[in-house]
Amino acid sequence: MDHTLSKKAYAKACTCLPGGVDSPVRAFSSVGCTPIFADHAQGSHLFDVDGNSYIDYIGSWGPMLLGHAPAFLQEALLSAVRKGTSFGLPTVLETELAELIKEAYPSVDMVRMVNSGTEAVMSAIRVARAYTGKDKIIKFEGNYHGHSDGLLVSSGSGALTYQVPTSPGIPQDVIRHTLVCTYNDIESVKKAMNNHKGEIAAVILEPIAGNMGLVQAEPVFLKELRQLCTEEGILLIFDEVISGFRVAYEGAQGLYCVKPDMTCFGKIIGGGLPVGAYGGKKEIMQMVSPSGPVYQAGTLSGNPLAMRMGIAMLTYIKEHPDIYAHLEAFGAKLQEGMQAILDQYHLPYPLHRCGSLMTLFFTDRKIRSYKDVQTCDLQLYRTYFQGMLKRGILLAPSQFEVMFISAAHDLRDLQDTLIAFEQTMKELL
Ligand SMILES: *Cc1c(COP(=O)(O)O)cnc(C)c1O
Repeated sequence: MDHTLSKKAYAKACTCLPGGVDSPVRAFSSVGCTPIFADHAQGSHLFDVDGNSYIDYIGSWGPMLLGHAPAFLQEALLSAVRKGTSFGLPTVLETELAELIKEAYPSVDMVRMVNSGTEAVMSAIRVARAYTGKDKIIKFEGNYHGHSDGLLVSSGSGALTYQVPTSPGIPQDVIRHTLVCTYNDIESVKKAMNNHKGEIAAVILEPIAGNMGLVQAEPVFLKELRQLCTEEGILLIFDEVISGFRVAYEGAQGLYCVKPDMTCFGKIIGGGLPVGAYGGKKEIMQMVSPSGPVYQAGTLSGNPLAMRMGIAMLTYIKEHPDIYAHLEAFGAKLQEGMQAILDQYHLPYPLHRCGSLMTLFFTDRKIRSYKDVQTCDLQLYRTYFQGMLKRGILLAPSQFEVMFISAAHDLRDLQDTLIAFEQTMKELL
C-alpha cells in the first residue's frame, strides 16, 4: 500500500498546523506512523489521497451512524445551502431539531444548540453551577468531555493517547473545582461527596464510556449514582455525545432506564456537520439567557446547515428503527468472528462491545475502569493497527478509542475484516 501523497501532504501540513493536524489523535503518532489524508468516503469505505481504499471503522469518530455521504443527507445539505448558510436570526429548523431530541429523551424538556460537544458540556456545567449555587464537579478518570479547562482533568481520548490527561495551561484554581472519581466505583463517589458536602454542583459521566476504549457503566453503579445525586441535591449530567442516538435511539439513558438531570449531545445529531446541544429539565434550562441569567451564546449556534442535517439524520433513523437491529447483528457477528480467532490462538484479550461500538483491549485484565485500561500493551495495539491498515481496515489510531460500526457496513465488509484480523493476529504471535 503506497502512502506517498499522504506523506507529502503531512509534511506540508506540519509547516503550518501544529503536528500537521487540527485534532491530536489524527496524527497517528501513537501507532507509529504518519496519518493517511482522506480524499473522499462513501458508505463503509474511505479513500485516501493516494487512491487506497479502506473499510472505515473511524466513522468521523461517531457522527457517521449511516456510513458516509448517504444520498438523502447530501440532498438535505444542498437544499439548505441554496437558502443561505447563516442568518443570525432564529429559524424553525432549531425548534424542529430540539423537538426530535425531546421526543427521544424524556429527561429533556428544553435544548440549547451549540457548535461542538466541548461547548455543550462546558455550558451544561456552567448552568449546573448557577442552578445549584455550587462550584465543584465530579468527573471520572478516563472519561472525556471535550477540551474545556475544568474538564480536561484525568481525561480520556487524545489526552490519554498522548499521556497528558491533565493539560498544562489550565490554572490550578480551575482544576481544584474538579474532583476525579473512579468509574464503576460508587465508594469513590461517596467519599468525594462526603469530603465536599454541600459544595458539589454536578456529577458528569459518559454512561457508556467511549474515550478510554469502550467501558460500560455497570447498571447498579448508574442507579446508585442517580440515587446519591438526588439525595444530595447534586445534578446528574450524562455526556451522551457518543452514545446518544447510537447505542439506541433513546441513548444510554434509554438502555439503562436512568434519568439524568441534564444531557449533552453532539456527533450524530449534526449528521456530520459541527454541532452540539445540551438539554434537561425545564427549571434548569430556563436558567439560560435570555430566559435566565446564565450567559451562553454563539454566532453560528443553531446554524441552518447543521440543523437541516441533524433533522434529516434523526428523522431518517426514527423512521428506520431496523437500523439498530442491523448494527447489533453486524456488531455481534464481528464480535463472534473476532472472539473465535482470539480463542483459536489462545489470546486472552477482552473484546468489549455495545451495539455498534467495540474495543479490543490488549491486556489479560478484566476492564472496568481507567486503571484496568492502563494495563494495555500499547506496542501490541500499534502492531494490530498497522497490520489492519495495510490490509485495508481503518481502525482508530489509539487503544483508547472505539471502533465505530455503521449501518453501511455489510457482510462483505465483515468477511474482509475477519480475514484481515486473523492474518494480523497470526503476525502478532
Ligand atoms: C467527542 C466527545 C466530546 C467532545 O465533542 P467535540 O465535538 O469533539 O467537542 C465530548 N464528550 C464525549 C463523550 C465525546 O465523545
